[in-house]
Amino acid sequence: MSKIEYVQSTHGKTHVCYEGFRYYCHRKNDDDAEYWKCVKKSRCVGLTIKPDGTIKKRADHDHLPNEAHKEVLIIRQNLRRKVVELSLPIDAIVDQTYAGLQDSTVCQDVVIQLPSIATRRNNLQKERRKTRPPLPKNITELVIQFELT
Ligand SMILES: [Zn+2]
Repeated sequence: MSKIEYVQSTHGKTHVCYEGFRYYCHRKNDDDAEYWKCVKKSRCVGLTIKPDGTIKKRADHDHLPNEAHKEVLIIRQNLRRKVVELSLPIDAIVDQTYAGLQDSTVCQDVVIQLPSIATRRNNLQKERRKTRPPLPKNITELVIQFELT
């Protein structure tokens, strides 16, 4: 039997992956069971996860599962974490991640679905700025920063 995996969506929401399908939490029932809905189609089936961990599937999906998408989210999640935690240049972190992807058994689908390096770099840069002040671009900025602190 396959197991439930939790991933972070691109918008920072928690999604559940199960048997190659991805779900978002739709509501919590009175008995604490969670009802999760398929992210792909609004009218698609959902899952019920009981507090004891039992999974109940309502019906079958009318589309194919997509394991690659889950892998992509996990890779992005790890990349984001590294950018925030390490002080290496972002380019170095992206390169390392790419090198790692080529060595590992990640299927080509995953690599294709990763957004282009350029957009990812910008996003990562933003992510890093949230946690630390940007490096001053020139001496004037440096002086202003110095005076402010
Ligand atoms: Zn579905």
